[in-house]
Amino acid sequence: MKIAVLSRNPRLYSTRRLVEAGQQRGHEMVVIDTLRAYMNIASHKPQIHYRGQAMEGFEAVIPRIGASVTFYGCAVLRQFEMMGVYPLNESVAISRSRDKLRALQLLSRKGIGLPVTGFAHSPDDIPDLIQMVGGAPLVIKVLEGTQGMGVVLAETHKAAESVIEAFLGLKQDIMVQEYIQEAGGADIRCFVVGDKVIAAMKRQAKAGEFRSNLHRGGSASLIKITPEERMTAVRAARVMGLNVAGVDILRSNHGPLVMEVNSSPGLEGIETTTGKDVAGMIIQYLEKNAEPGQTRTKGRG
Ligand code: ADP
Ligand code: MG
Repeated sequence: MKIAVLSRNPRLYSTRRLVEAGQQRGHEMVVIDTLRAYMNIASHKPQIHYRGQAMEGFEAVIPRIGASVTFYGCAVLRQFEMMGVYPLNESVAISRSRDKLRALQLLSRKGIGLPVTGFAHSPDDIPDLIQMVGGAPLVIKVLEGTQGMGVVLAETHKAAESVIEAFLGLKQDIMVQEYIQEAGGADIRCFVVGDKVIAAMKRQAKAGEFRSNLHRGGSASLIKITPEERMTAVRAARVMGLNVAGVDILRSNHGPLVMEVNSSPGLEGIETTTGKDVAGMIIQYLEKNAEPGQTRTKGRG
């Protein structure tokens, strides 16, 4: 197969591993810098150009779209979909997962366990909002943050009020969430490919920190997940419409709660922690499923 990898940087671990795994299995791998792909939208024959050349003959595309380029990246991916190229994850599903609030709304509709979460616009509603999610301590999140940036733990009612007020004052959309204290600064990253969790790791926040993100100094270790956690992760990915996803779960005393579903989960942490060939499994998934015109939405919606 000829497979495109949409990525800003060919030297990133995940991009390198996907290219390597594809080549090992006999595929032609082409890394396209997302922001340098440009498109001809007006024609009946949708095209993507890159460095002066029309990109043609691809059977599959692997989007590795960073949060900072979601808008443009999804437009490029949509163009591939319109050309009938099979995307590992569809543009619509990626946009859904990038908006944390939209994602939680979709998951809640299907009855998936979530931390109690509130959302408001007017500063007048802050006291009631805080009460709605069970009061302090609580977690405040910027809707489009990643890597733990824009996630704040407010330990007291007063702190919560002033942080929420500050965000709203800056015209920053936020959500307010019940703090799952019993998770002890740990969460579980379930790596879903197709309808299976193919690898999982536990991430533990460093001392004095509640965010377990590896970018915030968290450490990863092997973990055995329960059948309930496995099922929750697979269902969450399916609800979002993602073929490949990193589903983050908090262990609460009333079962697994999904915190977020990542559409371009990193490979480095999960491969080094579990010793599994995750990149290879992703390529195998494409071999099984990539057929021209198999995109569910063909760039619609
Ligand atoms: P990001 O997209 O920036 O990673 P997350 O929603 O995943 O944002 O939050 C970052 C980290 O903060 C999580 O990995 C988890 O360790 C911690 N965290 C987030 N929400 C909660 C919560 N409701 N209760 C306890 N810990 C949380
Ligand atoms: Mg996260």
